[in-house]
Amino acid sequence: MTTRLYLEFDASCKSIPLSREDAHYLLRVLRLKAGDVIHVFNETAGEWRCVLADVTKMDGMLYMQDCVCPPHNEPATYLVYAPLKHDAMAFLFEKAVELGVTHFQPMITDHAQKYAMHADKVLRQLKQAVQQCERLSVPKVLPALRFDQIVAHYPDAYIALERFDAMPFIRALPTDPGLPCVFIVGAEGGFSPREVDLACKSTLVPVSLGRTILRAETAALVGLGAIHMARSC
Ligand code: SAH
Repeated sequence: MTTRLYLEFDASCKSIPLSREDAHYLLRVLRLKAGDVIHVFNETAGEWRCVLADVTKMDGMLYMQDCVCPPHNEPATYLVYAPLKHDAMAFLFEKAVELGVTHFQPMITDHAQKYAMHADKVLRQLKQAVQQCERLSVPKVLPALRFDQIVAHYPDAYIALERFDAMPFIRALPTDPGLPCVFIVGAEGGFSPREVDLACKSTLVPVSLGRTILRAETAALVGLGAIHMARSC
């Protein structure tokens, strides 16, 4: 499989010098040699075939050959979530990238736990997931908002509510696959009665993900899977 690397570069570049970190990854970890081909990409330049050259112990250049995938718009998909424990969060980030999330919106709720988030580490995880799944763009992680701010900020969002007489999500999804979609999932402990009440009095659309009570990360991925499939039709 061709190595894909997310890099900052412009489509008009002829060559790209490797950063220390990328040189380490390509030359030491993957043991690539001069003449090897890799793909570099980002959301504005698209994906380009490059040849590795001018290799020294710690350095190298990528010479751009041809564009293998032009830049294209990805429909906006927001996942609004309450931060989870480290392993569950890493799992959710990776899978949500594969399922097309463009924006991660952390949310503070009555039952949400406080977990530290290391922005650099998260960005690395997101880039790795994007490189693996053939997307062009790295999702953004937005500043956290409280639940009442979420309600005001995303008036058209879908909110997953368990044990609630809500429409199955698959039937509530918009028929136009290009429309932005915002999907809200509660914390491990669910939403508090106060928050459910607030959601019901708002313009949010309550949706069901089936009869069983899913863990927060499962609920997020089931919902994102439905959006992903609706967009692939
Ligand atoms: N601890 C709670 C469940 C929380 S599940 C309890 O036992 O009552 C975590 C979140 O996943 C919920 O807030 C909800 O957004 C979502 N969720 C889980 N199962 C769901 C279902 N069947 N339908 C809709 N949303 C669900």
